[in-house]
Amino acid sequence: MNLLNNATILQVAIPTPLRQLFDYLPIHNDANIGARVLVSFGKQKKIGIIVNISDKSDCPLHKLKPIDALLDTASLFPPALLELIHWASRYYQSSLGEVFEAALPKRLRQIPKNPKPNARKKKTETKNHNLMAVPALQDTAPELNTDQKYAVNTITKQFGQFQTFLLDGVTGSGKTEVYIRLIEQMITLGKQSLILVPEIGLTPQLLTRFQKRFGVPIAVLHSALTEKQRYEAWQQAKTGRAPIVIGTRSTVFVPLLSLGIIIIDEEHDASFKQQEGFRYHARDLAIMRGSLEHCPVVLGSATPSLETLHNVHIGRFQHLLLSERAGNAAFPSLRVLDIRHKKLDEGLSQPLIETIREHLSNKGQVLIFLNRRGFAPVLMCFECGWTANCRQCDARMTLHYQHQKLQCHHCESTIPLYKQCPSCHHTDLKPLGIGTERIEAALQRHFPEHNITRIDKDTTRKKNAMRDTIERIHKGETEILLGTQMIAKGHHFPNVTLVAILEIDQALFSTDFRSLEKMGQLMIQVAGRAGRSTRLGHVILQTCHPQHPLLTKLLEKGYTEFSEALLAERRAICLPPYSYQILIRAEAIKRERANHFLHFVKTQMTKKQNNSVKFLGPIPAPMERRIGKYRAQLLLQSINRPMLQKLVKTLILEIEKNPIANSVRWSLDVDPIDLY
Ligand code: ADP
Ligand code: ZN
Ligand code: ZN
Repeated sequence: MNLLNNATILQVAIPTPLRQLFDYLPIHNDANIGARVLVSFGKQKKIGIIVNISDKSDCPLHKLKPIDALLDTASLFPPALLELIHWASRYYQSSLGEVFEAALPKRLRQIPKNPKPNARKKKTETKNHNLMAVPALQDTAPELNTDQKYAVNTITKQFGQFQTFLLDGVTGSGKTEVYIRLIEQMITLGKQSLILVPEIGLTPQLLTRFQKRFGVPIAVLHSALTEKQRYEAWQQAKTGRAPIVIGTRSTVFVPLLSLGIIIIDEEHDASFKQQEGFRYHARDLAIMRGSLEHCPVVLGSATPSLETLHNVHIGRFQHLLLSERAGNAAFPSLRVLDIRHKKLDEGLSQPLIETIREHLSNKGQVLIFLNRRGFAPVLMCFECGWTANCRQCDARMTLHYQHQKLQCHHCESTIPLYKQCPSCHHTDLKPLGIGTERIEAALQRHFPEHNITRIDKDTTRKKNAMRDTIERIHKGETEILLGTQMIAKGHHFPNVTLVAILEIDQALFSTDFRSLEKMGQLMIQVAGRAGRSTRLGHVILQTCHPQHPLLTKLLEKGYTEFSEALLAERRAICLPPYSYQILIRAEAIKRERANHFLHFVKTQMTKKQNNSVKFLGPIPAPMERRIGKYRAQLLLQSINRPMLQKLVKTLILEIEKNPIANSVRWSLDVDPIDLY
């Protein structure tokens, strides 16, 4: 607690994009860094965080307003977490207020009805329905295989120190079992384990497994919880009452009493990257957190990201390989099905249909992967060539047959299905291309005696829908599963003997330099669903490009060689991870404005540097118009990260203060993973 004197100034971070702190006068005679305050900000009331207590201000003292209320008697953030937040604000060049906003549960970001210091009532902490203490060890622990033992021992030796490990093993190789052993030791040591997972959908699965093995409280944090649940879980983590904390992306900011280990499952997954507002990568922040809190960080994946593999190559991360499937499950066999010159029935080739039939008659489950929801991506008039386009976006509207509507998958706007062409009034409207809904209809026609379950955003909107579906699959109530990338991730489907992958050819020729990496990861993840128990799995890939060199490398040699080849390509043309990028995006109602702003930025930046930073653009975004706004982008790239960071840092404050910055909505994306 600080005793304040008359000339005390509180420097407050406020959730606004402006990259600066705001000065206020205290009203109490105490205030702490890391505590929340309620303040007047323009005409609004906002909740800010005290970041610094100073004896001077750039503003004349008489112009400073006092805070309205002090909301916490103590800091909400342990020192190392405060340091992480400051680091994140610097590295991602975001306003500190926005970073704090991302770090706090919603309940603490809301203005209380009766603002007074919150001394953290002990009462609310005792009741908690996120905490499920379960009798320990219902599941017996399997004997670890050699690779698993080595991994556990190596990581154990680094307890209490910072080191990042890549736990590299195919699905089913026993990564989760390794996590369990590490967490077990942490519990004995009285330390907390923080586990980050890419999606809410995967938490119940991990949770059940942990509950069966540990008789300790587990705090779970994700966006599908109520505010109250989330706040309580946050409290449990903060007070140390939950030895295990599992959550999605933003859980990287949860305060912990005594952190012992951080585990990031499926580290390659793009959902660890926040794509709006304060754009951060939870994996990268987790590693920084490990370094600040002196604890090991374990990245688990069957398909590590190229960034992570690069870090292994340069010796920054330690590689731990789980080279076999745990238990006695065998690796699935992969087969390429060349569909050139083959007649397709709604996207399905005859040989594929026959193979599906075979597996079904052998009582196997079949999984069909198609990463496009809806019935068809295009509705076209065969008389005049008109297509149904979104009014607000440069995009076609997807046909959703079941609900008789057209929907734009970029802005989600919908319109009723046309009965005739609005342009020539002909009724010859036809769907082009295939989506999951269309495949479902085709499968129903071919296999009327079998149950089909479709898993995509449309079938899983309702609360618990995903969980119920997964349950149905496990009970064997469905023989054919069909879905988008939602089925690719993490789930165990032990009775699946055949996986068919459709329509990946687009990814082979995309302009996005990451698209092949993503495709390879997705394919291996999907293939990993097959043959997870004692039955051998088969994977079939339908393609028109069976000789594509990288595709064949992936199928014949596996992900490691495939990723090495991709890394070699990236190195040759100096793309990340061999260079660093910052993307500046701008959008405006008028096309010229976005462009004009980015040209201004580029001119300012070019003046200040010596060619160590390359500029690409400004160019229109690949989908230029979205939700009625024109979008443009300027990409900055350099092999010298500090130089790139410095250039942007020195100019961003100037640009922010220039009136031109108010003519557009603009944003910075450090280490962007999606340029398109
Ligand atoms: P991953 O996380 O890599 O997908 P899991 O840890 O989930 O792998 O292991 C896959 C399956 O094998 C699980 O059912 C798990 O209980 C089992 N398993 C893991 N390690 C062993 C082992 N050493 N011996 C026998 N079974 C194991
Ligand atoms: Zn027409
Ligand atoms: Zn749209």
